[in-house]
Amino acid sequence: MKIYADNAATTKMSPAAVAAMVECLEKEYGNPSSLYALGQQARERLEKARGEVAAVIGAEPEEITFTSGGSEADNQALRSAAALGKKAGKTHLISSAFEHHAILHTLAALEKEGFTVTLLPVHEDGLVRPEELEAAIREDTCLVSVMYANNEIGTVQPIEALGAICRKRGVPFHTDAVQATGHLPIDVKAQNIDMLSASAHKFHGPKGVGFLYARRGLRLTNLIEGGAQERGKRAGTENVAGAAAMAAALKESAAAMEKNAAHMSVLRDRLIEGLKEIPHSALNGDARKRLPGNVNFCFEGIEGESLLLLLDDRGISASSGSACTSGSLDPSHVLLAIGRVHDVAHGSLRLTIGEDSTEEEIDYLIRNVREVVEYLRGFSPIWRDLMSGKKEFIL
Ligand SMILES: *Cc1c(COP(=O)(O)O)cnc(C)c1O
Repeated sequence: MKIYADNAATTKMSPAAVAAMVECLEKEYGNPSSLYALGQQARERLEKARGEVAAVIGAEPEEITFTSGGSEADNQALRSAAALGKKAGKTHLISSAFEHHAILHTLAALEKEGFTVTLLPVHEDGLVRPEELEAAIREDTCLVSVMYANNEIGTVQPIEALGAICRKRGVPFHTDAVQATGHLPIDVKAQNIDMLSASAHKFHGPKGVGFLYARRGLRLTNLIEGGAQERGKRAGTENVAGAAAMAAALKESAAAMEKNAAHMSVLRDRLIEGLKEIPHSALNGDARKRLPGNVNFCFEGIEGESLLLLLDDRGISASSGSACTSGSLDPSHVLLAIGRVHDVAHGSLRLTIGEDSTEEEIDYLIRNVREVVEYLRGFSPIWRDLMSGKKEFIL
């Protein structure tokens, strides 16, 4: 059996997205800035995509800027708020400890440029607390950025409440919604969101395209200098085929969202129940307030990396947390943020199922993870120490 259980890393393109992309590449290959009909046709295709994307999140078309993906949107959101803040003498930014590196590394760069950053703690349930945000806001705060849903443990933040606090205090609110877009309902107006990042390849669109929503009146800083594309805020000939495919994928995901979420959360809960049976294991993050497809566990006494390789041998594509930390020996900053100690954080496994996942696949996953964990513990020196009482179990 071959099972793709890494949908948080990327998703397979949907047939509708592929069809939209191919159609653009073959027929609408003009440059949207050209004045002749072929160029204007491409322009129309691009603007249609903009309108479709905007509609899904309750925004206006002119509030959408196409980017090369989630990372670029995150960078542009933070840099824009920082530039606006600086003009007004405000140089303090608030975010959370378990953000994606596109946020954390941009904040680190801004700190070097003289900004100050407060990272809100993330509690054991994988959630930030609105009252802690309220307490962290200062007179000189120019941005709050908290992710909608975490990419490793899938926990979904109280976005509307966080947004309401920011609105009340007059501070712009950005959310990295890369994991949530196409999977959870989003209404930027009702949820008090001023800026939002999304990426097509996380909802069955192509890689290399995404968008930044910025509320009307919020002035963006451009990261790429050049032509006047995207209202002068993102130079470079537009990725028309990418935008069209992204819109097709998002429309489809939005239309089937409720049905998909219901199907996936039943399978997710079955998987969680099955993996809980493994002794000395623990689910990471709240069991309910999480993405419908996300399961993330720690198993004591094993190495996440060996687990992944052995699962791969059995046809299972999984992850230890984040594609960005694989290849490095540091445990996940997300798991450390929710209070897992190093040893335990090393034995993590993220399984992110998709809309097409089946009960049969879930049972295959449970059986194989159980077998591989048991096998690895069989020759783990840490496990031996735990069993002999030399070390104490944490989980
Ligand atoms: C994938 C991801 C990103 C980065 O998006 P890219 O399009 O791959 O640059 C940013 N934030 C989160 C939460 C993600 O899951």
